[in-house]
Order: sequence, then C-alpha cells, then structure tokens
Amino acid sequence: MSSSAEREISAATAQVVLRRNRVQPFLARHPWVLVSAIERIEGTPADGDVVDLIGDRGRWVARGVFNAHSRLRVRLYSWDREAALDAGFWRARLAAAIALRRDLGLLDPDGACRLVFSEADGLSGLIVDRYRSTLVVQINSLAFAQRLEIVLEALRAELSPEAIVVRGDPAAARFEQFAVTDGLAWGSLPPGPLEFRENGLRFEVDPLEGHKTGYYLDQRDNRRAAAGYLSGRRVLDMFCYTGSFALAARSLGGAREVLAYDSSAKALEQARRHAELNQIDGVEFRQGEAFETLDQLSAVGERFGAVILDPPKFAGQRRHVDQALRAYHRLNRLAVELIEPGGFLVTCSCSGHVTREDLLDVLTGVGQQARRSIQVLEQRGAAPDHPVALACPESEYLKCLICRV
Ligand code: SAH
Repeated sequence: MSSSAEREISAATAQVVLRRNRVQPFLARHPWVLVSAIERIEGTPADGDVVDLIGDRGRWVARGVFNAHSRLRVRLYSWDREAALDAGFWRARLAAAIALRRDLGLLDPDGACRLVFSEADGLSGLIVDRYRSTLVVQINSLAFAQRLEIVLEALRAELSPEAIVVRGDPAAARFEQFAVTDGLAWGSLPPGPLEFRENGLRFEVDPLEGHKTGYYLDQRDNRRAAAGYLSGRRVLDMFCYTGSFALAARSLGGAREVLAYDSSAKALEQARRHAELNQIDGVEFRQGEAFETLDQLSAVGERFGAVILDPPKFAGQRRHVDQALRAYHRLNRLAVELIEPGGFLVTCSCSGHVTREDLLDVLTGVGQQARRSIQVLEQRGAAPDHPVALACPESEYLKCLICRV
C-alpha cells in the first residue's frame, strides 16, 4: 500500500459526537459505539474511515473506524490522541497479541491457539487462530475487511506461517456490509487435513470448513481439567462435536467408558477419526438430538458417573436470554437426573449474554427441583489465549462449571 493511501485511511476524517451523558462507557474503554449513543457526525466519513469520538462538551475521547451500515457505528481502537490508526499501529497491536501467546507458551510448533481475539486484544472485529504453521484469519468487521492486507503482512512478518486462510463471518458480513473472499490468502496448504496437538492428543481440522475457524480452542484447558475428575467413571458427553472432551476424558482422565452424542453426522465422522488417530477405544460416538437423547437415556434408567454439557450458543441476542435460560435449565435438569450420587457435572455456556451468575442461578433452580445438592468445584472460563477484556464484559462469553452432584 502506498504511504499516501495508507495515510488516507489512518487519519481521522470526521468527528462523531456523543449524546449527553453517554461518554462514560467509552472513557472506560468499551470499544462499541452504537448508533443510539451518537448525537451527530461532523464531516462525511466513508465506511471504514478513521474517525474521532468526541464527548458532548467537545472532549476528545477515542479514535476508531466508522461504518454507516452497522448499528455498531464506530469500533474504537485507540485512546491515545497522538496515535494514528496506520499500518504501524495495527502491526504493533497484532505483535502485542502474539507476544501474549508466546508468553503463555502457546506457540509450540505442533500446537494450536488463538492468536488474536477481537475486543479482548484491542482488535474489535478480527480473530486469528493458529494450527501449527497455518493461520486462519476470521474477518468480523468492515474495518478489518478493508485492512486485510495490513493484517496479512503483519502476520507474515511476525510468524512466517506456511499458509494463511481467510474466512469472512457470513452474519457479520451481512450486518456490516462487507465482502471477503474465503480461501487461501497466502502460502500453500499441506495436502489433506491439518493435524495439530492439544493436551498431547492428535486432532485434525479443516480450516476451510468446520465451525468458526474449525475447532473449539477455547475449551482446551477445560477438557484437561474435566478429565481430572473422571477416572474409572462412565461418562456422557453431550454436544461432542469432533470428540475433544470425550477423548480427553478417556485418555487423559482414565474414564471407564464414554458415550458421546452430537446431532451432526459430519462432526461425528471426524470424532471417530480422532479416536482412531489416537488409538483410543472405549469411546462410542452416536448421533442424537440432545434433549431427546437425555429423555430417552433417563427413560431406560441409564446412569453416569459424569455428564459433560457443552451446547451451542442458546442466546445470540440479549432479547433471547430468558428463552436461553429456560433451555439451560431443562438441559441441566435432564443431565442431573442421569448422574449417580457423588457424580460430576461439567456444564458450559458460550452465550455472551448469559452471565456466570445466570448460569449459577440456573443450577440453583435445577438442584432445588431435582432435590439434589450441587457443589461447584471449579468456575472456569475460556483458556487464556481467549482473554477477557474488563472494558468489554461481552468478551467473557464462555463459562464452564465443574460440579459434584
Ligand atoms: N464440545 C465440543 C464443542 C461443541 S459445539 C468440543 O469440545 O469441541 C456444539 C455442538 O452441538 C456442535 O457440534 C453441534 O453440532 C451440536 N448441536 C447443536 N444442537 C444440538 C442438539 N440439539 N443436539 C445435539 N447436538 C447439537
């Protein structure tokens, strides 16, 4: 990119002025300026332009990227008035995110980790995952759709990857009105699926297909932690996807037997392949809808020493929270019925709008109704390569409770 073109998109072209009494969250560094907080716009910024955020009394607050098509009108990236949002700025942000993963010891050549986690790394709208030496870039904002080249260049400079795959989040692309071409953006992909290691086990991922970027890296440490409770137990893993909890339970945890369900035939096929790859027996993968399956298992009097529940997001929006809480209640209630006295429940929620307190309340209600005492042993979150930004509570999306029932 020529330096003049770069300057064009890095200097603030307009000022976005907040309504009265709306400045506080942004002083506290929340990165999302919704259209409802904005009084007026001075200047005529194009989508993707850099703009300054100004308080109602003319005070400079922060700098971000504008998008007239999104309800999330400005994404904020800097609270330093001297900082231009130029290529050097983005490179430094990416380098800082990568440095954290290096400090966490997560850059081992055979492993996988999340290198960039959007708001949690000061890069709202950008996710980067690493599977060995392949990087998967997920674009969730127009801001980064327009800055893709800068991102790719910075990643190459920092990590010298063998390949970079780009994926645009389809929902975000609709909301934010951007288009990115999915596929290999740099280098070459090794033939066949990508293999990587997690907790000593071998897994495969298809970065061009799969959910999100193809694998749930956020549960890495929870799989290991849960496994620690499962020795000699009969375990039920609901929502097993490609089998990571189930295989860790049997192989790391020494579970006696694991029964794992998912509704997706494709995920189960990969899960069976993972069992084979790691030469793990004693894990049976079956297709089934979770609520129906739990009902059926209950009806025939099955019992388990532990149940793992890692359902998909039940509340995509705030207005779905009540409905989601009822679903979490029903799910956990059915699971608790199947757990023998002194058994364990590993229960997760990845809905950003459902808080930790909400989930604990759900379990309180379940215990009451089922007339069982539930002890919470561990309150866990996502692995540390998915940090929580205190300024953006929404970045604490994953909750994982390990309980004794
Ligand atoms: N535990 C997995 C991730 C689970 S993701 C891991 O550690 O990798 C959620 C999974 O739930 C997906 O694989 C999806 O196919 C499955 N799913 C969604 N709705 C379902 C339902 N009603 N019944 C069973 N599985 C469901």
